[in-house]
Amino acid sequence: MRLDRFLAETTDLTRSLAKKALHRGEVSVDGEVVKNPATQVDASSQVTWNGQPLALVGLRYVMLHKPAGVECTARRTLYPRAIDLIALPKVERLQPVGRLDVDTTGLVLLSDDGQWSHRVTSPRHRCGKVYRVTLADPLEGAALEDAIARFAEGLLLDGEEKPTRPAELAMREPTVAELTLFEGKYHQVKRMFAAIGHHVVALHRESIGPLSLGELSEGEWRELNAEEVAAF
Ligand code: URA
Repeated sequence: MRLDRFLAETTDLTRSLAKKALHRGEVSVDGEVVKNPATQVDASSQVTWNGQPLALVGLRYVMLHKPAGVECTARRTLYPRAIDLIALPKVERLQPVGRLDVDTTGLVLLSDDGQWSHRVTSPRHRCGKVYRVTLADPLEGAALEDAIARFAEGLLLDGEEKPTRPAELAMREPTVAELTLFEGKYHQVKRMFAAIGHHVVALHRESIGPLSLGELSEGEWRELNAEEVAAF
């Protein structure tokens, strides 16, 4: 890759600022000052800027225990963003792999590997996402039997052309449900419960496929290991 691109990839410099840094003689490749932005470098080149060694970042895979009040968005809003909690270089390149609402807590995966993200989110890969859903009112008896059947069959939500894919519902307590979805439509859990006349007061994502939060506390994050990445 061109040296000016390498600098833009590995520092906060834009391509044009990288060219200026090169012009000022601040950049060395394999011990020699290089000023030409078109010089070709690769991962084995020893590039330094003002004496600091630079290294390309590879693809990253992160799990975050999202607290309430944090948004899964790239643009800045009133709320802190999920990426603001993650201390990694070039963190703005990480995209949430399936978003959670600002008031939802739990497992969020983030990555800069678009193909992997697609494998995790595509309904064709049938990767189950398990939610703990706290309802305002108990769901039991015949209403529960009906809800289990309707969720398993698929419901047509307002504004959607296709019904939801079969989902699995079980109750842990009269007001606490476990719902497993194999897709991710906008506000899907809240809209599914609204469709059966129930209001969701708290929502928490416990797992995505084989990955769950484990010991990770709210606000904490960690990189996935190779085995976890390969599990999708
Ligand atoms: N469904 C919702 O309604 N909200 C979420 O945050 C995730 C799934």
